Amino acid sequence: MTANSRCSVAEPPGLETQRREIESLLRESELQTGDSWYVVDRRWFDQWKEFVESGDQNSSSFPGQIDNTELFEDLDSYHMKERLAENEDFVLVPAEAWHKLLLWYGMVDGQPALERKVVDLPSTLKVEVYPVEVFLCLHSNMENIITAQFSRTDSIHTIQAAVCQAFSVPPGSECRLWMKSSDSSCERLRNVHMSVLDSCLSSGMTVIMEMRNADGTWPSSRPQIMRNSVEDQDSYRGQPGVCGLTNLGNTCFMNSALQCLSNTPPLTEYFLQSSYLEELNFTNPLGMKGEIAEAYADVIKQMWSGRHYSVVPRVFKTKVGHFASQFLGYQQHDSQELLSFLLDGLHEDLNRVKNKEYIELRDADRRPDQEVAEEAWRNHRRRNDSVIVDTFHGLFKSTLVCPECNKVSVTFDPFCYLSVPLPVSKERVMEVFFVSLDPHAKPVQHRVVVPKAGKVSDLCVALSEMIDVLPKQMVVADVFNHRFYKIYNPEESLSCILDRDDIFVYELSVQDEDAVLLALYLRERSQYRDYGSGSSSYGTTLFGHPLLLRVPRGSCSREELYQLFLQRLVRYVRPPDPSEELEEEEEDDDEEELYKSQTNGFSDDEKEVEEAAGPAAPQPCCSHAPNNQSDAAAPTEAEPDASCAQSSLDQGDATVSNGSINPTGPACGAAAANTSTAPDDTSTCGDAGVAAGSEPPAEPAPPSCGATEGNEEDKQEEACSLSPPPNQLPVKRRACRRRRRSLFTIQAVNSNGTTERGMGEGGSAVSFSSQPYVAIDWDQDMKKRFYNENEAERYVKHSSMEVPQQQTTVQLQECIELFTTRETLEEENPWYCPVCKKHQLATKKLDLWSLPEVLIIHLKRFSYTKFTREKLDTIVDFPLRDLDFSSFLLRKSVSDEEPPSRYDLIAVSNHYGGLRDGHYTSYAQNKDSAQWYYFDDSKVTYASEEQIVTNAAYVLFYHRQDKIRKPTLPAPNDGSASSHFANDITSCKDQEAGQGASYITMETD
Ligand SMILES: [Zn+2]
Repeated sequence: MTANSRCSVAEPPGLETQRREIESLLRESELQTGDSWYVVDRRWFDQWKEFVESGDQNSSSFPGQIDNTELFEDLDSYHMKERLAENEDFVLVPAEAWHKLLLWYGMVDGQPALERKVVDLPSTLKVEVYPVEVFLCLHSNMENIITAQFSRTDSIHTIQAAVCQAFSVPPGSECRLWMKSSDSSCERLRNVHMSVLDSCLSSGMTVIMEMRNADGTWPSSRPQIMRNSVEDQDSYRGQPGVCGLTNLGNTCFMNSALQCLSNTPPLTEYFLQSSYLEELNFTNPLGMKGEIAEAYADVIKQMWSGRHYSVVPRVFKTKVGHFASQFLGYQQHDSQELLSFLLDGLHEDLNRVKNKEYIELRDADRRPDQEVAEEAWRNHRRRNDSVIVDTFHGLFKSTLVCPECNKVSVTFDPFCYLSVPLPVSKERVMEVFFVSLDPHAKPVQHRVVVPKAGKVSDLCVALSEMIDVLPKQMVVADVFNHRFYKIYNPEESLSCILDRDDIFVYELSVQDEDAVLLALYLRERSQYRDYGSGSSSYGTTLFGHPLLLRVPRGSCSREELYQLFLQRLVRYVRPPDPSEELEEEEEDDDEEELYKSQTNGFSDDEKEVEEAAGPAAPQPCCSHAPNNQSDAAAPTEAEPDASCAQSSLDQGDATVSNGSINPTGPACGAAAANTSTAPDDTSTCGDAGVAAGSEPPAEPAPPSCGATEGNEEDKQEEACSLSPPPNQLPVKRRACRRRRRSLFTIQAVNSNGTTERGMGEGGSAVSFSSQPYVAIDWDQDMKKRFYNENEAERYVKHSSMEVPQQQTTVQLQECIELFTTRETLEEENPWYCPVCKKHQLATKKLDLWSLPEVLIIHLKRFSYTKFTREKLDTIVDFPLRDLDFSSFLLRKSVSDEEPPSRYDLIAVSNHYGGLRDGHYTSYAQNKDSAQWYYFDDSKVTYASEEQIVTNAAYVLFYHRQDKIRKPTLPAPNDGSASSHFANDITSCKDQEAGQGASYITMETD
């Protein structure tokens, strides 16, 4: 068995072939129950796509090994992070595509493949990215808990078998299972043939198994416990409707929507009076056979019974999941989406129209609005007649005008809620880290305001106003996993940068015609030898923060780079003290070897290097004037153009410099062109230069500071540099050298920070086609001694971080105006003009025609465009009373019978947090007492009117004043006397729950 047999990376086919093969697999693979799909980090996959699309085997977008690091909570458990989103955080690839990618690229060591099965869920096939993770324990010892994962399609029996096995339950024992949610309520899992999904078992719950006692009793049904729970339920007589809803695992979006609907008087009264029973529509193919309506009615009746502090809406949740697969499982959803689904589901389940007739829509044809609107409403009611329509449906007019033939199309459409846009700020606040040229300065976190549609250069300009650095001396980069995910061109759009990206802005030395933009990574060597990868002789792991520095082309010798890096890292890399034992014995015949190798530039096998006369510890050369000098100013000054160092690296230089993507450096472009016509140069360099993956660099030459002072030594070196062979080190130094180990070695790498590259059809040596990347590789012991991890991670906050972010406030009326503002249709959504007979980007105008009894207004806080996804934190100032729509209504009141258009607020669904995570709650006014409450899952607290308008408000419920009835009960408290804790009406529940909490709702058989 040879070392190579471990090699897992096969020779991949050409890039075009790769792209075609994978793309067709992605396109053609269909979900089939039981099939395996694989989760792949989206960034890695994007990079791979970029790579194969580049068509260049040597492209810097080479993605390296498949790396799912970012998907894991940590690298010990390899537990996948929660709430990752498909196509945002990861992509799913079918098994065949995965195996190909794995064969071609391999996988970062130690990472498990994220294989997931396709499961057959009600109404959908789905890759089960997140299996249900539950805790298992025995009733007799609830301290001993294990974690286990099950598919939603597994049966409860599978779980029972798992418990029996895990806890070595004797075979033949008579068992029963309970599931306990986080709020400690327990429910019996009676039917072991039921699926995990149908049993409403979800992640985070505990499955408890008990075994029948010898006397025939069950441990869980001791009488005193059960009596307790019955008494508890009997004794509570709370305010009807003031009832929490238990969170069943990220179901706050559902609870929030339910509380708003529960506090919508006409709808709740309809259910409490059981009017729904006569109207259940079991035959409507668009409905859910009455099941949603019945499940909803059950929840409402429990909430308004006054018997519960909190209700567990488990059956309701399962029904919703059955009919709308997007609400299945464990992921966070949108309360407005659920609301929309629910109103639709309730409507169809309760539709009084049993047979929908087909109605042909007539064009408005310049008939008066009144006539067309009445016809549209009549037609709508002929097909749709339910409590939902009665309560929530209104009518708006939509006018489309063709830009070419001026055809005007008018339609009147019913709506169930208004989705109103928020004025989108043209500016954007970004948080970035500024990395100064001063090697002693810590990175500084800044908050800058930039135009949303701006370019990367606008970010530099904005930052420049805070610090004394010119925009052209900045480079902006996205740092991800200790490497550069992207180095931005100043012309690129800021929309490429997401708020959650870690953006670093690097100060560069003043533009030097002959400079190279060098990306520097830090890597730690692992101890084993990595045979699988071919060219590299050790495995490496990236760590710390990468750096970008502009290096004069004349200073790219390994030795100079070593010095330069030491200097640049001086804040957290301690230069070795001369007394420290880094020296190693010199071997006799080594001198000749070294001499030979050096004529080529970097020596290939230069483990130890001579130490020059002069101070051994390198001094930072530019620390006295860090801000306006080149990072490498001193070395440049020290070496005239024809210096030995430069010529020693002539070829290496050409390679390093040819790739600089620095867009403002014309020299780089020229160099690149130059190199591309001279492939020989590149490959030569690949053999001998940085790119060859050689071992340690030379130990520091005499510090260049000395050189700038023009001392004797310097002159000697200069003199030497002019004599052939140019790259030999001065004889004097060779004579007195002694060997030293350097702190780290320098290695050319790809943009991913890996040394080895997939050898494609080109098979050529490494070259930098766009951007030079080098890594400095540390042995573990050297890193421990000289690299100060704590210091490396330090940063400071600029005062801009302390300025509270300005809250913009808009009036709700402005949002409604925006809703009715004429707009031009977007390219993706054109209108088919019946006159032109083609799709046109028509102008569109919406107007409100008639409004419902209960008006739902959805504030479009989640803004998704092609390029940006954001949540708008704007405060929308909405009135609690007297929201007057008369000025927005197109229909002018023709008689006194017209309903008024004034509304009072009755409920608000709130969303806290960002785009993907967050929490939903609601404010709602009790219909009987007119008291406001704050509903936060199972907790309910009193609320005062002043609390209600916040930037979390997401969906607003307004009730038309003519329909509002006087409260039948006095308000339970007068707002002035209330304090936070006194108001917590659930506190008594919490105390009670403290006594034997887990048994309270365990039911008897
Ligand atoms: Zn037209």
